[in-house]
Amino acid sequence: MSFSSLGLISPLLQALDALEYKLPTPVQAQAIPAVLAGRDLMVAAQTGTGKTAGFALPLLQRLSTEGAPVGSNAVRALVLVPTRELAEQVHESFRAYGRHLPLRTHVAYGGVSINPQMMKLRKGLDLLVATPGRLLDLYGKNAVKFTQLQALVLDEADRMLDLGFSRELDALIAAFPKRRQTLLFSATYSDPIRALATSLLRDPLTIDVSPRNSTVKSIKQWLIPVDKKRKSELFCHLLKKNGWGQVLVFVKTRKGVEQLVETLLAQGIRADSIHGDKPQPARLRALERFKSDEVQVLVATDVAARGLDIDDLPLVVNFDLPIVAEDYIHRTGRTGRAGASGEAISLVAADEVQQLAAIETLTRQILTRNDEQGFEPEHRVPMTDARGQVLKKPKKPKKPKPGKSQGV
Ligand code: AMP
Repeated sequence: MSFSSLGLISPLLQALDALEYKLPTPVQAQAIPAVLAGRDLMVAAQTGTGKTAGFALPLLQRLSTEGAPVGSNAVRALVLVPTRELAEQVHESFRAYGRHLPLRTHVAYGGVSINPQMMKLRKGLDLLVATPGRLLDLYGKNAVKFTQLQALVLDEADRMLDLGFSRELDALIAAFPKRRQTLLFSATYSDPIRALATSLLRDPLTIDVSPRNSTVKSIKQWLIPVDKKRKSELFCHLLKKNGWGQVLVFVKTRKGVEQLVETLLAQGIRADSIHGDKPQPARLRALERFKSDEVQVLVATDVAARGLDIDDLPLVVNFDLPIVAEDYIHRTGRTGRAGASGEAISLVAADEVQQLAAIETLTRQILTRNDEQGFEPEHRVPMTDARGQVLKKPKKPKKPKPGKSQGV
């Protein structure tokens, strides 16, 4: 099946040619004709499946071929996303796909001045990509009106709820016109997301391109048991020993991120960080430096876990396991994208065994354990069974005997 057989117009086909997209991915093959036909969608798809083009291409087509020209301060299509990074990235995709179409698009998120966003909205926009908080601020200032809104996309809806956007979403949805096309994308489908879907969608087409709550098959995943206090040392050792190229590393806390970056920089390793305490321009700069290979190791909290699209990222390291098991799927999804193979390695300490069990239950797999010589933990990580249950409670840490280590 080709993109032209899905009914896309030639300005879009030209753009796809230039991007060297040869064939639609499964989510695109299903979503594009349905969106063109005006259907609502409820899609279970992870990043890496090509879902952005799945909604961006048909929306661009509908915006350029249907509907009245946009009035001042109005928007015709809205894409709501959970994070600033994802907002930039999704908008960038719209720009790339829509480069031969005369549409006005923009992106709006918090943490930067609101005035340029208000100015941009004055003449109206065909498409706005926004985070819910900033969009609500703009609405409160009468900088945006929804009277012409014909299409709404909620991207990474599960993440928006996790990040506490449900109040903003409720307020916005109440302000949107009832007659509109709505497309809901979520990697995981929890009960709150299903409830949101029921309240938002009209006779939606359901598309499920990945088995629920699974990680991408092409990603090789395993773990190294290690004592907490030796994680930095182990990471630096692995980096050198394995001659790793670019690595995206996830750390639980902002402080932990900064500490690891400091350790890496002190060893002459090019590292930078992304987390919620950093001003937006610094976060984007870090991401750009990583994408352009100026930075070898990008250390991030889960804020960065979803949606970041970095070409050919071969390796993700979970320096700490995530508190919320679903985040494991999103973190590992940063590698092995668009069919490429990838590797995700977790450094797991004994006190993370419950998180490990939750991840193994969710992903229905037991992660292979490989000890790293010289780093066998003194506090062993209890074994988990096929249902992700912890078989033995972690023992109280004993005082280490010099020269002796306990393997798993
Ligand atoms: P997404 O899941 O939307 O974040 O897309 C993941 C990656 O796949 C992005 O780098 C896209 O540029 C790329 N991509 C999307 N659709 C296609 C396609 N049909 N052919 C090749 N690459 C694609």
